[in-house]
Amino acid sequence: MRPEILFPLFATLNSLKGVGPRIALLLEKAAGAHVVDLLWHLPREVIDRRDRPSVADAQPGKIVTLQVHVGKHEAPSDKRRPYRIHCSDVTGPLILTFFRGDKKYLEQILPQGEERLISGRLDLYLGIKQMAHPDHIQPLDKADEIPDIEPVYPLTAGITPKVLSKAIAAALSRAPDLPEWLNAEHRKREGWLPWRDALMQAHMPGNSGDLSPLTKMRQRLAYDELLANQLALTVVRRNAKRQGGQSLKGDGTLREAARKALPFTLTLSQETALSEIFADMESPQRMLRLLQGDVGSGKTVVALMAMLNAVECGGQAALMAPTEILARQHFETIAPIVAKLGLKCVVLTGRDKGAARKEILAAIAEGRAALAIGTHALFQEEVTFRDLKLAVIDEQHRFGVHQRLTLGGKGIRTDMLVMTATPIPRTLTMTAYGDLDSSRLTDKPPGRIPIKTVVIANNRLPDVVDGLRRKLAEGAKVYWVCPLVEESETSDLANAEGRYADLCHSFGETRVSLVHGRMKGKEKDAAMARFIEGPADILVATTVIEVGVNVPAASVMIIEQAERFGLAQLHQLRGRIGRGADASTCILLRAEHMTETAKERLRTLSETDDGFVIAEKDLELRGAGEILGTKQSGLPEFRLADIALHGDLMRIAHDDARLILETDPDLNGPRGKNLRLLLYLFERDAAIGNLKSG
Ligand code: ADP
Ligand code: MG
Repeated sequence: MRPEILFPLFATLNSLKGVGPRIALLLEKAAGAHVVDLLWHLPREVIDRRDRPSVADAQPGKIVTLQVHVGKHEAPSDKRRPYRIHCSDVTGPLILTFFRGDKKYLEQILPQGEERLISGRLDLYLGIKQMAHPDHIQPLDKADEIPDIEPVYPLTAGITPKVLSKAIAAALSRAPDLPEWLNAEHRKREGWLPWRDALMQAHMPGNSGDLSPLTKMRQRLAYDELLANQLALTVVRRNAKRQGGQSLKGDGTLREAARKALPFTLTLSQETALSEIFADMESPQRMLRLLQGDVGSGKTVVALMAMLNAVECGGQAALMAPTEILARQHFETIAPIVAKLGLKCVVLTGRDKGAARKEILAAIAEGRAALAIGTHALFQEEVTFRDLKLAVIDEQHRFGVHQRLTLGGKGIRTDMLVMTATPIPRTLTMTAYGDLDSSRLTDKPPGRIPIKTVVIANNRLPDVVDGLRRKLAEGAKVYWVCPLVEESETSDLANAEGRYADLCHSFGETRVSLVHGRMKGKEKDAAMARFIEGPADILVATTVIEVGVNVPAASVMIIEQAERFGLAQLHQLRGRIGRGADASTCILLRAEHMTETAKERLRTLSETDDGFVIAEKDLELRGAGEILGTKQSGLPEFRLADIALHGDLMRIAHDDARLILETDPDLNGPRGKNLRLLLYLFERDAAIGNLKSG
């Protein structure tokens, strides 16, 4: 049971003042469903509004706060044109512009003849100073309402910065003083503030330096998260060992038949991984194994073989994927093979409803379905297995420890295999995953022609489009990737839509398809299907294709603004091509000017396609300090910690967790009780279930 002191933090978002159901839904997409998730939504920028020049002295391009006299309103006759308000101070004129401005509202907040304080970014338009949509507008007696220094949060579409800031402020006001769970000396040595103070300060940056993940505030918060994670992993691992598993050793008949049904023979590292997995399954201990392998290294068939071993033992196996598209793709690969073996395989996602869903659930519950593939829908309470012996989780990094364990909980002592295409540098595997055993697929299936990767400046885009024409004539399918670094950035979405329109113009609408993160499941599938099955042969996509999609005919990938992506992410994306028989090309379009590390990232990518090498390089480059706009931890179960930047903290947390559990195995001592709070705070509740309470 979650302790009462944390209740306010685990209330839903619409319990916050000023957050209605619509906003709550949008916030949930950006941050998470609970108040606590807003606490972890840290500012990305800081705006300094202390510059208060006269209009004449104000610099275009800068954020300024101005005191102006409001003059005439100029409402446009054509709605598509901006609404203008002529203002001035004694030194000169200033125009305020509003697109789709509402006359009534503007007359109310900016009444003609009065003085107002406004704050925002200044522009120059036809030689006249202008400000479009000021961030703040206040009468003089409410000057205090305009903050001197304002944190800016990563945005989500449909929410204004103001609404977001207010919601976060409301969430922060709920943060209780929590008893200290860190070792007092350790905290003192690091100079860390108590949790609540660190949190508050992290949300109140005084300058851009305060946004660094290496500030004391953010380090403290990251450490808390890492410690919670290490504790959870260690506890779970210990219990899995203690509890024991089942000894699963099938007679090999299904596996033999599957091998015959496969159009290829397994690679050496697939065989090695399988023998490690089979050994784990056979041992009476519960398996908790990580299978790391680059995109395209052939993890699916390894999973299939492991699942068949479980079925040979009379049980069921489940395979869980992070997205609907992937779950269905796995199903399409696996179902025909196992059908030949006389086995039933079902697929369950959030979209299955009504009678069809009932039948799927019944097949799982009665054991008629030997294999179940699905999204997190497989976690839901209504899903019961007759006898789940193995759970495989694909592309684990979208899921947290918490969920992994829930699925495991659906079978007694269920073996777990977690597959990830994000290779973790060897130096960090142990610390990142606690003592999870790990197998690595280091070689690629034979016959692959290496992908040619070239870096091209984006002013040569027309040449690229010409080249594309030739490739298309040869029958290639093409991914065209536009950055959507955060699912939210409207401008990025606009770019993707713009590119789609351009390409439609060049190649005709039927040949181009568009898929992005804000489409609904059905739309997305339809767009993907047009690409996979035709008639489209160009897929313009934001990064939603990142995870696992398999289209062997795709042999060209163009990535726009490649310098904005992280190394690991680029590598993942590139792995979508080079899966068929044709030579593949990846074109990285880059900006004219790039930082040194951006250059190094793109160079690394054009030189190697070994995911393990790239992971090491990524760690090195990010550790060297360039922080991209996007979270790049590679282990998104972390909200605050970044393994590249907080590697040291991770190691300390690892040791700390072991020491804690050695002296207080069930966290019942005075510090132990506080650590339980920490586990709840970071939603590692499942680990608590593994503790004996005192
Ligand atoms: P990933 O590790 O990214 O999940 P997949 O399991 O999707 O990779 O495999 C990528 C492709 O390689 C699939 O088309 C699969 O059929 C094929 N493949 C897997 N193993 C082998 C092998 N040993 N020989 C040839 N092709 C293989
Ligand atoms: Mg895969």
